[in-house]
Amino acid sequence: MSASTTASCPILTYHSQLLFGSDYANNSHVALKDDLARVAASGRRIVPLPQLVEALAGRAAMPDLDRVVCISFDDGPDFDWLDIDHPEHGPQPGFARILREHWAAHPEASPVAASSFVIADASARTAISRSAMDGHDWMHDHWWRAAQDSGLLAIESHGWDHRHEALGDGSDPQLGHFHAVDDETSCRFQIDQASAHIAALCGERPRLFAYPYGQTSDYLRDEYLPRFEHRHGIVGAVSVEPGYCHPHSSRWFLPRFVHAAHWQTPEQLGAILRG
Ligand SMILES: [Zn+2]
Repeated sequence: MSASTTASCPILTYHSQLLFGSDYANNSHVALKDDLARVAASGRRIVPLPQLVEALAGRAAMPDLDRVVCISFDDGPDFDWLDIDHPEHGPQPGFARILREHWAAHPEASPVAASSFVIADASARTAISRSAMDGHDWMHDHWWRAAQDSGLLAIESHGWDHRHEALGDGSDPQLGHFHAVDDETSCRFQIDQASAHIAALCGERPRLFAYPYGQTSDYLRDEYLPRFEHRHGIVGAVSVEPGYCHPHSSRWFLPRFVHAAHWQTPEQLGAILRG
């Protein structure tokens, strides 16, 4: 079914805060619902991202990568889990409801599971939400444990504070990018501290890390994450470079396709799924 000679699996990524209208390209909830149906029709089945990473690490059987797809969500807004009555665009089903309803409509499929990459620090979440979401507080952690327990969403790490530019007054050159997380102290702060805090709130330690802004230092990717795996427990990390996962992909910088950035129409998603 794939034109490629190497087995390849796409990781599809959505932002539940992408809610600027009611169309596929400007409403990620519309897109996710449509895309799940397209995935089901494509012959690929959804496998949890940690399962793919464990296979790349040689600790689990490798699925047929031409027959699977993984799904992830970034930043952890409340609408990953909760329905929302959006002040401008009306009621929207949360991502979890969309996953649950898709599974109910396709009971023959394996359980649908996505990975939700959340930001650990509550004060950072408040600042980011208010600056990026029109002043709303839409990035809470009270739903993490229920989401983790549901089996629908695995709560994973997007770092301590995302090094988000909303955290400062514009004068701190360390904010707005993640390249400067390049020594053991800053890596411990962003990785180990975040994982311990997320584990305390959701009941399970994150296994995956999504690089904020898709950016990493060579040190974090090539040394810190692999060398201290026994301590931080992260087994793989994802970027936002478009591309497919292959049997020999590095599990420390996996590519992902991002809705709205890398595909804007159902047809373009169809082409990604064909490989
Ligand atoms: Zn992010």
